[in-house]
Amino acid sequence: MGHRVGVLALQGDFREHLAVLRRLDVPAQEVRTAKDLEAVDALILPGGESTTIARLMAKSGLDRGIKERGREGMPLYGTCAGLILLAKELLEDRPQPLELLDVTVDRNAYGRQVDSFEADIEIRDLGEFHAVFIRAPKVTRSGPAVEVLAEHDGAPVLVRQGNVLASSFHPELTDDTRIHEFFLSFLEKS
Ligand code: GLN
Repeated sequence: MGHRVGVLALQGDFREHLAVLRRLDVPAQEVRTAKDLEAVDALILPGGESTTIARLMAKSGLDRGIKERGREGMPLYGTCAGLILLAKELLEDRPQPLELLDVTVDRNAYGRQVDSFEADIEIRDLGEFHAVFIRAPKVTRSGPAVEVLAEHDGAPVLVRQGNVLASSFHPELTDDTRIHEFFLSFLEKS
């Protein structure tokens, strides 16, 4: 108890994540600087434009801070652009990801065909979930330490590696809070 959850608030849909946390009655705050990061026990990396977020993270030293805390076991959850930022490897040259999650990501795999779509997916232990995909990145490889918790069209869309959770879709844009609650359960063990 007494845990504070941060949402990386440099660009993207961080307000929607903060609204979910408020609905769940979880103390939450925006994280914009390395100093803000020190005050939180978990961090959500929102959807948005991964190149922009990466550039702003590097400017403030937050990239190094998040990498360090992530390696120490702080719970991290990335949605969409957040998944791109957490990845170990991207098919594209930019941005430079944080390499905290052993997956390879194709940034605009779906976006080239269709900008956004919705699908009902089946999440392990959680059941059916209505997922909203917007210019979604595609996980093209996941390492042995990565648990695939849900797939769509044969590609992982919700994955976990220990303290790191990531989805290529946006649960913060629906009013189903189960994935956020699942992420918050990581705090009980950290
Ligand atoms: N494809 C976008 C990127 O590369 C991510 C899209 C999103 O977060 N909705 O940053």
